[in-house]
Amino acid sequence: MAQETQPAGQICGESAEIERYSRQVLFRGIGEEGQRKLAAARVAIVGCGATGSALAGLLARAGVGTLRIIDRDYVEPSNLQRQSLFDEKDAAESLPKAIAAARKIAHFNSQIAVEPKVDDLVPANIQGLLEGIQLILDGTDNFETRYLINDYAVDRSLPWIYSAAVGSYAVTLNILPGQTACLACIFPDSPRGMVETCETLGILNSAVNLVASVAATEALKLLVSAPTSGAKAQSHEEHPLAALKHCATQNQLRRTLLSFDVWTNEHAEISAAQPRVGCRACGQRDFVHLAGEGRPHITLCGRNSVQIHERQRPIDFAEMDRRLQPHGVVRHNDFVLKFWHDPYEMTLFPDGRAIIKGTTDTAVARSLYARFVGS
Ligand SMILES: [Zn+2]
Repeated sequence: MAQETQPAGQICGESAEIERYSRQVLFRGIGEEGQRKLAAARVAIVGCGATGSALAGLLARAGVGTLRIIDRDYVEPSNLQRQSLFDEKDAAESLPKAIAAARKIAHFNSQIAVEPKVDDLVPANIQGLLEGIQLILDGTDNFETRYLINDYAVDRSLPWIYSAAVGSYAVTLNILPGQTACLACIFPDSPRGMVETCETLGILNSAVNLVASVAATEALKLLVSAPTSGAKAQSHEEHPLAALKHCATQNQLRRTLLSFDVWTNEHAEISAAQPRVGCRACGQRDFVHLAGEGRPHITLCGRNSVQIHERQRPIDFAEMDRRLQPHGVVRHNDFVLKFWHDPYEMTLFPDGRAIIKGTTDTAVARSLYARFVGS
């Protein structure tokens, strides 16, 4: 009877929505109320490479109402092996990944809102980029940004999910500030020296999809545990984790650092159920990354080049030369290593300092450094 008073288009729209999510609503852990919560949810995905693509694709299809996709990079042909939201046309056009992702998602779920942000997440813009978000998902490729997210999330009591994959190895951790360990509890310091990246060690798309599937499922559990509406939703924004403590679904959330290698089948779980006593971030609340103190200085260095004053990162030139060989022309002597990766030329010093020619964009230079030297 109510249908008679509604325009036909709205009936079609509503029934199409019910049909779209019908198999997910049947799943007991979601249900109709869970689906409504997903529709009201606001999630940020920081970094939209392989992991970010898979996370965004899964959550968009699941009906998460607002996805904010933040990425500083553009699509290249070498992305297509694993970055599931992009195609050959995106690479040919060098489309920003956030834009390409939003366009692709609109083709399979036009009912949700995707907010693409073509930007490098840094201390100066993190508050604006993550405004109004209730859950942050990690699709980044570097620890620098992850520590920044961790500081921000711990400071604001926002949940976030760390995810990473390189080679055939993948690892993920749920961070519920005030309840579980945070990233700095588990990894007090950024890995230094030789850190393998996807560009030097390669990556299997299956490792990416596995870690994204685990993280996306944890995200669904968190989102369906959220309070419903009105005043409760308001208080949820102020204390996003408070309501979770009494929610049954929250008991299903994993409280371990989970890692697995899809090639060797090795896997491990380390308890992350408790914060580490004395942790810089969640214990002492000393948010050095949020304050920008932990970041390397990046300066424009003459015409069409950028200098990265990296933290102390001793470079073994012989080893670096071997790793970089498949990706361009490499030469080194005792003092500098030169690496040509068209259209860029990187000059690397033994202490980790680098000069990158071919760009005046510090985000591009930072991205190159993270990809080829380490994050
Ligand atoms: Zn901590």
